[in-house]
Amino acid sequence: MSEPNTQKVDVLAIGAHPDDVELSCAGTLLRMQAQGAKIGMVDMTRGERGSRGNAEIRAAEAQAALQILGFEFREVLDLGDLQIQDTHERRVKVVECIRRHKPTLVLTHWGYDKHPDHEGTSELVKHSMFVAGAANFPAKYEPHNPKRLLYWPSSWMMDCNVYVDVTDYWEHKLRAARAHKSQFFDPNSSDPTTILSQPAFFERHERRARYFGDQIGVKYAEVFYLREPVKVDNPLTLCP
Ligand SMILES: [Zn+2]
Repeated sequence: MSEPNTQKVDVLAIGAHPDDVELSCAGTLLRMQAQGAKIGMVDMTRGERGSRGNAEIRAAEAQAALQILGFEFREVLDLGDLQIQDTHERRVKVVECIRRHKPTLVLTHWGYDKHPDHEGTSELVKHSMFVAGAANFPAKYEPHNPKRLLYWPSSWMMDCNVYVDVTDYWEHKLRAARAHKSQFFDPNSSDPTTILSQPAFFERHERRARYFGDQIGVKYAEVFYLREPVKVDNPLTLCP
């Protein structure tokens, strides 16, 4: 058995399925990477029970997307597609992942969503982040508390309070998302149609990013929700 990956990163983006991080926050991650941050991606599942593709196809697509993004690693926790719930056994795996990689910032799904795995991932990550720092929680590796958790919206919108200009990274992000070929429109595919595989999906995806960008005066933005209050030493830092 190979040794577990213990590479430290600044940022860990945790999605339920192999394409979630790409679609939701890859522009933000690319922007942070360009400024020197080390980025790790985690997939809770292999997307093995999705309507399109299969585990092998999706694993190859996920690796292709990772190559395009150039992040440090992509790790699959394999917690069961359509089965993500906040259970003790799954918490141990997420806690050990957080402790192995010691991120300062974690990004994941907002907890109110059409897909139960997105809701399950949100709850599981939030609670695992807390107990990852508890010395007596029964899991391996040194306790570690990431400093912040940012939530991204998926199916349904919420009031976001963190907007990131991803204009310079938009095409790069789209290239990575499109690497998940089995999930998107293909006139030759006989797989069932999903929201992602509708021909207009990327047009709608762009419209949403343009709308967010409009709120902060840029072309494209990705948006997040920070649940806790932010302590500010000098309010002028809010006026760049
Ligand atoms: Zn998903």
